[in-house]
Amino acid sequence: MDYLPVFLDLKSKNILIIGAGDIALNKIKILLSCKAIINIISQDVSLEIQDLIKNKKIFWISKEFKISFLENMFLVIAATNNTKLNKKIFEICNKNRILVNVVDDKSRCSFIFPSIINRSPIIVAISSAGKAPVLLRLLRKKIESMLPIKFGNIAKIAGKWREIVKNNFSNILERKNFWEKLFNSIFIQYVINGQEKKAISILKNMIKRPNTLIGEVILVGAGPGNSDLLTLRAVQVMQDADVVLYDNLISKDILNFIRRDAKCIYVGKKAGIKSITQKKIIKLLIFLAKEGKKVVRLKGGDPFIFGRGGEELEALKNANINVQVVPGITAGIGISAYSGIPLTHRDYAQGVIFITGHKCFNNVLNNWSVLSDSSYTLVIYMASLKASEISKQLILNGRLQSTPVAIISQGTTIKQKVTIGRLDEIDKIFKLTISPSLLIIGDVVSLHKKLTWFKDSTLF
Ligand code: SAH
Repeated sequence: MDYLPVFLDLKSKNILIIGAGDIALNKIKILLSCKAIINIISQDVSLEIQDLIKNKKIFWISKEFKISFLENMFLVIAATNNTKLNKKIFEICNKNRILVNVVDDKSRCSFIFPSIINRSPIIVAISSAGKAPVLLRLLRKKIESMLPIKFGNIAKIAGKWREIVKNNFSNILERKNFWEKLFNSIFIQYVINGQEKKAISILKNMIKRPNTLIGEVILVGAGPGNSDLLTLRAVQVMQDADVVLYDNLISKDILNFIRRDAKCIYVGKKAGIKSITQKKIIKLLIFLAKEGKKVVRLKGGDPFIFGRGGEELEALKNANINVQVVPGITAGIGISAYSGIPLTHRDYAQGVIFITGHKCFNNVLNNWSVLSDSSYTLVIYMASLKASEISKQLILNGRLQSTPVAIISQGTTIKQKVTIGRLDEIDKIFKLTISPSLLIIGDVVSLHKKLTWFKDSTLF
């Protein structure tokens, strides 16, 4: 290890900064957040630093450096463009055991500044010892994405309740179990969402009844198939889950994001094939949550678009289960982007309607005159079985037979296939496409030829 990471308490400690350029300003900002006393030596100072001096946040003690200024200094930063002066400052500080950092000169630093991810009081400091700054930046981005902005509030609450928890659980193991259970529960999400009252009530409840099980169900939209389109939140909860119940449109790539030792249960339903009923899925979700499990219910696209997410949420709320919903990119939106077919466009369509073909005729009376209005783009999920009726009704109610249509199968994935044709041909096109497939009807489809960017398409 080239350096030992330590966390310094700089409150009310004297810091000397020689030089007042942009780099110095960055250091001043960090040091101010640590409540240090900051003294500046510089010929001239920028407007921003002048403001800080005027407001007595920092002190401008001289224009010229003198050795006597080092007295009582805890830490020194040399940020001048005078190499000789920097060297001299380093040598004197080193001799007098004062921590010193010469900016951009690693050989003249008794300490270096790490890259900081600040979620106070949680602070993550990382460093590559100056060897790979770009790699460090990548790593930092990864860590930042794992730590929501309000992450620190979790530690703040824990700090406030630490004594009370200690008094309630005299045994160290019990205390450890308490905190582990709390931090693995929905408590965390309540804090992150700013619902601190709810979070505290979970905490209080757990102090009173430490053996209560706090399971939860998270309805998660996994997007249209390409794992690049998972949301950050979806990945977070998949990595946290104890059990995952997933549908048949969830690809292997996506399942790979699930925590290795989580239990995965396939509950897919395919049209026309007998499989687990919706009632049984809901029963299983409730059962697992009541066992104290963190259950992820993983659905294709978005849970609330033809995904029965609404029904499941309602049943879970009725059963008093803690629930969260993570939206996903619905097939219509994802496929619109990956096929270069904007669903609205000032010159072609003033609105878009999402419908399912599955129930077009049997149970629901669609308003065919609205659906046939050519100023709207139609996005039809599960259209294959009813394709010919859909096209007949639309033509009967006024859409032109020549209206362009796109049938996109396995959209957004490397197997995506876009077939372009006319409204009066859709049943024939469907016969040649494999599932899952999505139907887009409307003048915007004509833009595909020009706007396609992801893969080549077929003209029917
Ligand atoms: N909740 C999902 C939709 C579930 S219904 C969502 O928001 O996307 C399932 C239907 O969605 C399929 O029959 C098909 O019409 C469409 N679909 C989902 N993924 C698709 C994909 N990758 N390519 C084409 N169609 C897709």
